[in-house]
Amino acid sequence: MYTVIRGGRLLDIAGHSAADSDILIENGAFREIGPPGLAVPEGTAVVDAGDRLLMPGLINAHTHGHGSLGRGLGDRWSLELLLNAGPWISGGRSLEDKYLSALLNAAELLKKGCTACYDLYTEIPLPSLEGMDAVGRAYRDAGMRAVIAPMMADATFFQAIPGLMEALPPDLRARVASVALPDHDESLLACKAALDGWSHDRDRVRLALGPTIPLHCSDAFIQAAGRLAEEYDVGLHMHLGESRGQAVSGIKRYGKTLTAHLDALGFLSPRFTGAHCVWLDPDDIARMADQGASIAHNPGSNLRLGSGIAPAQAMRARGVTMGIGTDGSQCSDNQNMFEAMRLASFVSRVEKPDPEQWLATEQVLHMATAGSAAALGMGDLIGRIEPGYRADIVMLDLGSIGLIPLNDPVNQIVHAEDSTAVAEVMVDGKLVVKDRKLVNIDESKLRRDVEAAVDRLTGANEEARAFAALLEPVVGRFCVGLASQPYHIHRHVAG
Ligand SMILES: [Zn+2]
Repeated sequence: MYTVIRGGRLLDIAGHSAADSDILIENGAFREIGPPGLAVPEGTAVVDAGDRLLMPGLINAHTHGHGSLGRGLGDRWSLELLLNAGPWISGGRSLEDKYLSALLNAAELLKKGCTACYDLYTEIPLPSLEGMDAVGRAYRDAGMRAVIAPMMADATFFQAIPGLMEALPPDLRARVASVALPDHDESLLACKAALDGWSHDRDRVRLALGPTIPLHCSDAFIQAAGRLAEEYDVGLHMHLGESRGQAVSGIKRYGKTLTAHLDALGFLSPRFTGAHCVWLDPDDIARMADQGASIAHNPGSNLRLGSGIAPAQAMRARGVTMGIGTDGSQCSDNQNMFEAMRLASFVSRVEKPDPEQWLATEQVLHMATAGSAAALGMGDLIGRIEPGYRADIVMLDLGSIGLIPLNDPVNQIVHAEDSTAVAEVMVDGKLVVKDRKLVNIDESKLRRDVEAAVDRLTGANEEARAFAALLEPVVGRFCVGLASQPYHIHRHVAG
């Protein structure tokens, strides 16, 4: 019932310091924090944190559990080329594959000091109770916390981008046009079944809804998803303004920005988290702030896919709740929140020459902990080491090179650390990483299972892969043209 962590140095983010502290945990929640020698009830279990720097578990505000099996598959892919490849990267999965992919994602996150994530998980062609339950089991079995949003659409990528279908040669067009996604009613019925039948502890693993991208979801879908989220009091997560091509397409399709469109549909609210938000203009940012919405900032993925630089400091300053994410490993290609923080800090410095407008390290660390917690809808549960919060802690080895000498723990966690110092990780007061090893996962079995699954899936998806390769040059040319059309803001370095 009681555990005490003794001998560690507790990170003070605002103070850029780390004082010797003991931490008492009761039933998986922080009970009391005090100087060394803290009095504890008899029979309290002791965790020795000598030579450890204690920090809140990092929280990944945007990932894709299905993406772990697709790590490293692409190189010079824009978002649109990635979406073109989506069907073969993530297609043909069995229930076991879905579990395995989420488990691999959880394994990497935990080993790199992340204790909770917002996972937009796709099942093709539509979500299912069994599938979402398998994803939930994977995070539960790993010992991690997760919000799982079934990623859904009722328009294919080719239907979503205005003019793309017409740009295809007739033979390819006929084949692409023969693919249709299920009606949104079907997807939302499956979500309703999953919400009704959810068997996991909702403080550990809960559901949300993930209509994936405005252009890929009809207005009726977006509004129905908003109503369902209200009815079940769950979160909404969507990619928003990720690429220039999407931003231009939004104006073509809606006659207004994507964010203004969502606002007009009544979709923006405190339960909404927008991922990326690179191509939001100042009015869009004000809409997000005024509606109490959150943004998951994914600097690594935005760089990898050439999406542009999101104005994270401007969003933060305008009052938007900001979290940090890695995005899925099919596009980023790892789940390293330390790297995501470092990139968030660094990319904020290429926007403007005035250091006052760069992200400070304590702001970045706040975003990756309490900010992401709020984006997950868990702001009163996790993200801080304070009495009443769940006991999710990362213990960094002070003997690790990136922390020697320890001049400023906050600056070094954000700018110097790369996750190699992560020695122990605790979720809900239980160690899930010990001596740098996962407590609940057999890593060599995981490797064998994943490699066998990927061998099988590579064969099964061969035809889809060949078809995507035929489409790739046409999609690439069309989308570069689309992204070159005028837009009223600039988010690429060259303007
Ligand atoms: Zn994403």
